[in-house]
Amino acid sequence: MKTYDCIIIGSGPGGISAAIYLKRDGVNVCLFEGNVPGGAIVNTEVINNYPGFSSISGADLAMNMLNQISELNIDVYYEQAKIEKYNDLYKVNDCSAKYVIIATGTKVKTLGLESENKFLYRGISWCATCDGFLYKDKDVAVAGGGDSALSSAMTLSRYASIVYLIHRRSEFRAKESLVNDVKNTKNIKLVLDSNIVELYGDKKLEGIKVKNNLNNEISDIKIACLFEEIGRIPNSDVIDGLEKDSNGYILVNESFETNIPNIYAIGDVISKSVRQIVTATSDGAVAAIAISRKVK
Ligand code: NAP
Repeated sequence: MKTYDCIIIGSGPGGISAAIYLKRDGVNVCLFEGNVPGGAIVNTEVINNYPGFSSISGADLAMNMLNQISELNIDVYYEQAKIEKYNDLYKVNDCSAKYVIIATGTKVKTLGLESENKFLYRGISWCATCDGFLYKDKDVAVAGGGDSALSSAMTLSRYASIVYLIHRRSEFRAKESLVNDVKNTKNIKLVLDSNIVELYGDKKLEGIKVKNNLNNEISDIKIACLFEEIGRIPNSDVIDGLEKDSNGYILVNESFETNIPNIYAIGDVISKSVRQIVTATSDGAVAAIAISRKVK
């Protein structure tokens, strides 16, 4: 069993920021990552609101952050992590530590339609940045009305012939500038007050049936891919007994400590109103400084 002062679970901006602060302060720290290194930002095409970079791809920003981790010689374990109580410490797989930081982020939400499983990777995607170029000159649809859905629609509009943006209400949750961009993009067609009720196709997705919630009319839209962007679910099931809000996001105090002593949580997995790269890196720094003071 390898012993550290602190184990961080998740290598998104929050986890990486915490690791940098801890290591530079002489705290023995390691990182666990069970999914894509770099976290959800690797799926973001362009980031224009992270200070220091007027425009950078999510993948490049994640790579820069991961390089910083390797320059600092921080151990990274590419494994799904499970936290267990271990005497006065916590055990995460084959490592133990007094302090743990949960920085596990969120996972995508699905529409929950019966036919959804049939078309996984055969016409349903959750990443316009990764898969958009596959649909050059084809018709596609995006489901959702938040920042993710509208920014995916903008990304796809550069490849696809038509992008149908299907949203269950007439008002968007996304920021105003993005809503204006979408409304001013000719090949994005808005399908509002509507829900997707069926996906169909032989081996691959060929189309969707959409029900208008105002008049109950069902329309048929032929598409090659549906990009689902209807929000996210927190990856907060990492240890029993954590206090969470009604949506499953972890509750923390001002130092980002959870109700379980010496277990901290940061970034998108916690209950908060703003989920951005800067807020995740800030959470990481604050939690790391609190832990560093306790270690010393
Ligand atoms: P979100 O803001 O929660 O929006 C989810 C959208 O999906 C909403 O429009 C919602 O409709 C719709 N929806 C939810 N469940 C649905 C269902 N079962 N069927 C149909 N539609 C459904 O999620 P998000 O867009 O992924 O954004 C999450 C957070 O990340 C936000 O804080 C956002 O600001 C941030 N973000 C920021 C950026 C950026 O700044 N560049 C980019 C991406 C995300 P209703 O509106 O009717 O509830």
